[in-house]
Amino acid sequence: MSNYNWCHGPECHTKETQSRVRGSGDNKVLRTIKIKENRYGGYQSGIWNHFCNQRCLMDYLETHIQSVVAIAPRREALETPIKVVKEKYDTQRYQYTNNGYQPYDVIATRTTIKRVDNDNG
Ligand SMILES: [Zn+2]
Repeated sequence: MSNYNWCHGPECHTKETQSRVRGSGDNKVLRTIKIKENRYGGYQSGIWNHFCNQRCLMDYLETHIQSVVAIAPRREALETPIKVVKEKYDTQRYQYTNNGYQPYDVIATRTTIKRVDNDNG
């Protein structure tokens, strides 16, 4: 048994594609796309079970963004503890000379962001 949803894109039924044409004779319509659940092997099925494509997803968000952010409002910034580690290392740069590009030695600085594990202090 497969389950289906109608695409939630507010303009889905107005896009002129052959896949949306239904009816016969002079009674044809453009119809909202019917989506089979888990059609991409379950990839991001929470989203793609309800939207036929990214355009419909963005149209929906544009129309309903105030309601969407009201579900889980962000009233203050979140923070992730980190350490910023700077370390020097030997490397080479190149400069143009009469003999073409030639390497020369330099000491460079590498900056790395490391997560701080809160569980182990
Ligand atoms: Zn759609």
